[in-house]
Amino acid sequence: MRPVSCLVLLAWAGAPALGVVVAAQENGTAAAADVRVLQVRDGIYMVAGAGGNVTVQVGGDGILLVDTGRAAMGDQVLAAIRTISNAPIRQIVLTHDHPDSAGGVATLRTAGDAVLGGNFGGRAGAAILAHENAWLRMSAGGLPPAALPTDTYHVRRHDFSFNGEPVEILHQPRAHTDGDSMVLFRRSDVISTGDIFSTTRYPVIDVASGGSINGVIDALNRLLEITIPRTLQEDGTLVIPGDGRLCDEGDVNWYRYMVTVIRDRVQDMATRGMTLEQVKAARPTLEYDGRYGSETGPWTTEMFIEAVYRGVSAPQSR
Ligand SMILES: [Zn+2]
Repeated sequence: MRPVSCLVLLAWAGAPALGVVVAAQENGTAAAADVRVLQVRDGIYMVAGAGGNVTVQVGGDGILLVDTGRAAMGDQVLAAIRTISNAPIRQIVLTHDHPDSAGGVATLRTAGDAVLGGNFGGRAGAAILAHENAWLRMSAGGLPPAALPTDTYHVRRHDFSFNGEPVEILHQPRAHTDGDSMVLFRRSDVISTGDIFSTTRYPVIDVASGGSINGVIDALNRLLEITIPRTLQEDGTLVIPGDGRLCDEGDVNWYRYMVTVIRDRVQDMATRGMTLEQVKAARPTLEYDGRYGSETGPWTTEMFIEAVYRGVSAPQSR
């Protein structure tokens, strides 16, 4: 089984004030041969197999990356990028701060060369952008300076142009974490979602980092507002998930439906006074477990149900 990319462990029972312990792990065991490159559109590629998916946008300005994969896979990701282009890496956008998505940033940054002014390249490495909440956690986490974002934003929507393409950075509050960004390549009609969306598991909700089930559903609904299908067939806006295969709006719609059904079931049970153990015993995820569930590993079905239960029970959840 391939490693789950977002290794977040949540434990409630007997935990301190926040009630949550998050332990993020690195997993550098994947072989270089596992790193694959998929062309998504002209000038847009997806690198898979190094942890979270990495998006590569290439053009006359250089290379823009969304996420980096794990630290231990940085050299392999760089090698994969070099099969696409030898242009300098100018800009890295981090969808959030988890090490399977942002861990390779030091390696890829130092292989890069930011644009400091006009069209002049600098020698300080690539620029790194993340939401300020992600930056706050990363800077408090003892990471070396080279692994920290050089720029932050704090608004709902941040934008710039790169390779002649409008790039929108969309903050989604209280979803997978409180510092999630989706990155929309507006001309290419491609969006990178980070761990807001996955094709391999139930959404990981990092409650200790401000994540919530209702925030995840809000994020998926926002994603559906952005995506547009090709008429009467697959394709249209292409969606690069944080983990899993390339998708379109139909895939997001299915996932949003699944997550919403489970949230509503758990919310109904909680409203009727059922305890967490009773909700788990009722198996509100049953028909989806074959595709998304897990009894072992860092994000089990029980952990997902628990996070949903706590989310719908919290007075500030809506
Ligand atoms: Zn994550």
